[in-house]
Amino acid sequence: MKKQDIRNFSQEDLLRFLQGKNQKAFNATQIFSWIYKKGAEDFDSMSDLSLELRQILKKNFYFSKLIVEAIKESRDGTKKILFKLEDSSLIETVLIPSKERNTICLSSQVGCRFSCKFCASGIKGFKRNLSTAEIVSQVLFVKKYFFNVQLTHIVFMGTGEPLDNYENVLRAVRIFNSTYALNIGARRITISTSGVISGIKKLAKENLQVEISVSLHASDNKIRNNIMPINKKYPLQDLIRACRQYFLLTKRQITFEYILIHNLNCTLDDAKRLSFLLKGFDFKLNLIPYNKIAEFNFEPPIKLEVLFFQNQLSKMGIKSTLRLPRGTDINAACGQLRFYAETKNNTNLRELHTNFR
Ligand code: SF4
Repeated sequence: MKKQDIRNFSQEDLLRFLQGKNQKAFNATQIFSWIYKKGAEDFDSMSDLSLELRQILKKNFYFSKLIVEAIKESRDGTKKILFKLEDSSLIETVLIPSKERNTICLSSQVGCRFSCKFCASGIKGFKRNLSTAEIVSQVLFVKKYFFNVQLTHIVFMGTGEPLDNYENVLRAVRIFNSTYALNIGARRITISTSGVISGIKKLAKENLQVEISVSLHASDNKIRNNIMPINKKYPLQDLIRACRQYFLLTKRQITFEYILIHNLNCTLDDAKRLSFLLKGFDFKLNLIPYNKIAEFNFEPPIKLEVLFFQNQLSKMGIKSTLRLPRGTDINAACGQLRFYAETKNNTNLRELHTNFR
């Protein structure tokens, strides 16, 4: 077997591996606890494992490293970390602290193939999925670097479409959730999707209590086709039907996200269509004023548009929450995370640093 990053293994995977090597079942929980509770990054430090087991682990596994290229802090306390991966790809992770909660926003892919027209993550296309190890390492780094910050919530809202990297994301969710690892309640973990119906259907059968957040951003197919090309494959009505089925099967409330873009999707007609689409099932609706991305022509909504749209929805019986942007001054807010192309000779990286620091 080629050496693997041990953090690609769920507890069940590890248990199977250890059984195959005639080791004891409880060794899997010991190893998990060393990695995820005590932050071990080598096998020699796992002092309560036998020498034989440590040798087996060293022969078969290793710990890959996320290299920190830059950390930037916003005026509002939000922190953005730029990591370089083993293959020199760059990803961004955001820590959003507040009085009541500390949320980490994770990337799940290097780039994104869905190319939504308001999001910087898809501008340079898609390179590859992140491994489970690369996903969980974002959390382990933040916990360690920021002095064991007590993370309360995990959201998959960074670069990439989590349901397009289904297996690795789900394995990471199970590691976050495990009492022997990070012990973060499933209800505090949110998987956000641009509307990958096949993934929503699969997720409904997982028997996991995770939160799901679905990006609508338009009330009809014409506008949604323009700003979210995924709508051509999974049109709005099919998406809403899949969400209803998800709710019926799981009894879990869905959160819908709706980015408000100036002169595009926040008119009275939009409010009417949206309220019609969402009628009759239990949901939360977040309204998010668009954050300006230099490459796109869209503009953030004016205050009046936001108030008008929310007010119209309210008159139609639709409650919504206006989400205040966090970390806009460091490009860490919704839609602002980027995929930077490879760093051959570090030219791109140098350019990036001038922007970043
Ligand atoms: S919004 Fe999500 S799915 Fe769309 S391009 Fe950005 S990361 Fe990809």
